[in-house]
Amino acid sequence: MNTDARGRLIVVSNRLPLRVTPTTSGACRVSPGSGGLVSAMAPVMRARGGVWIGWPGISGEDPGLAVQFRAAGKQQGYSFEPVFLSQEECDSFYYGFSNEIVWPLFHDLQSLCNFDPTYWQGYLNVNGKYADAIARRARRTDVVWIHDYHLMNVAASLRGRGRGARLAFFLHIPFPSPDIFGKLPWRRSVLRALLAHDLVGFQTRRDRRNFLDCLTEYLPEAELGSRSQPLARLRLDGHECRAGSFPIGIDHNDFYRRAVSPEVVRRADHLTRLLPNRSLILGVDRLDYTKGIPERLCAFGKALERYPDLRERVTLIQVVVPSRADIPQYQELKARIENLVGEINGRFTRPGDWVPIHYVFRSLESEELLGYYHACQIALITPLKDGMNLVAKEYCACDPDENGVLILSEFAGAATQMANGALLVNPYDVEGIADAIHAAVVMPGRERRARMRRLRRGIRRQDVFWWVETFIQAAIEAGTDIAAARAWPSREPARKLTGAGRTSGGSNPTPEHGRPKPPA
Ligand code: UDP
Repeated sequence: MNTDARGRLIVVSNRLPLRVTPTTSGACRVSPGSGGLVSAMAPVMRARGGVWIGWPGISGEDPGLAVQFRAAGKQQGYSFEPVFLSQEECDSFYYGFSNEIVWPLFHDLQSLCNFDPTYWQGYLNVNGKYADAIARRARRTDVVWIHDYHLMNVAASLRGRGRGARLAFFLHIPFPSPDIFGKLPWRRSVLRALLAHDLVGFQTRRDRRNFLDCLTEYLPEAELGSRSQPLARLRLDGHECRAGSFPIGIDHNDFYRRAVSPEVVRRADHLTRLLPNRSLILGVDRLDYTKGIPERLCAFGKALERYPDLRERVTLIQVVVPSRADIPQYQELKARIENLVGEINGRFTRPGDWVPIHYVFRSLESEELLGYYHACQIALITPLKDGMNLVAKEYCACDPDENGVLILSEFAGAATQMANGALLVNPYDVEGIADAIHAAVVMPGRERRARMRRLRRGIRRQDVFWWVETFIQAAIEAGTDIAAARAWPSREPARKLTGAGRTSGGSNPTPEHGRPKPPA
């Protein structure tokens, strides 16, 4: 990687990648978190030096915790900077603006939004606190990488205090089209805030196109240097920002290694013995209305109705991971899912022989999840809309025999990279999904392997390390060029944003950025 030797990496996310567990003595224990993002960022932060800024996950301020964070930082090789939030701040910023407005709106579910005007001020205040933490810790030469929809106003808050480090933002969730985004009462402020970064990254070309279309519609004073380039160049109030798409990946090799470990193979064999002579279909989702779980269950029921040959020949294992359990909308969703499971099982079960849906409502241990990935011949992943959907990629990485079939929603970000191997479906089309289930069950082995091989090749090549490198490289270049090139734009004359020269968007499976060089 062509790194700037002096610059450190400052990662800013809503939550710190640490587990803070209250103990019986009233004190808290701090232990390192896990996951793809942490394992991809950690080596870069150790090599360059780094700070991770975020909320510890419990409300209120605890000076004792700060000591433990310092100790955790020493252990990890980079430091942690907690942003403490009161319960009131969590309510308006996190539960309110982030999860009752941005989350449903950006997933095209505007009718679920609660546009409470008090939330916006809470969001601004808390984003200001994250900006304070960055101002305390970042140096001019650092790259600050801000993550996700909770923190869209942090850079704007920092810019008001004079120019500092390079500021880059990545949105993990989708960016909606102008018709949807336009419902947001604070739409202009959010667009202006995003343009305060040097680089804004999206998961897909479709998200980037939506963002540029929203600028055209709602912020006509923003100028666009080039829309057809991989990195669109935008300028507002004399500041240049670039916008690109950077599809997030997984640590393919780690998933593959673990999927063939004796423990995972044992679990997979056990499951196959319990449910012999049938195709196992897997759904794994957080309990969330964006995941399309009720629609999927209806589609599975429709498949059993339409194709009697599937009866006793397939079993759907639907794992639902509890999430946001205290919110009424989520409780209603859970009840709806459980009703549907009951209805379909009630209609089709053959006592003693076959239960069509095995429903699991809990969080799984990693080995258990990988056992399911390994054992199931079909993954049925049908979100109504999803930024990426990592489960789709993890399932493929854990299929060493390359015999599985992925049925994937065309509205998952992953569909742009996986269209060459997955069976793409419209998650609202229950009959279409039913047909895809049947097609997957009867698909000849040669076709399954050819499709899965293509999928795995892409996941291996564009893994999470590729994603981190590509994004940081673009952030370094954006910040450096922008600081150096005050006479903007150097090559193309600036013009007002227009619809001309739009890129075709979401259906292109080729990401916009070349691989810088393979990760070490
Ligand atoms: N996952 C998990 N525990 C489980 C089931 C899933 O930690 O019991 C993980 C899964 O491995 C994946 C993530 O949760 O990495 C889900 O990511 P995805 O992008 O599919 O959806 P999200 O929940 O982030 O919207």
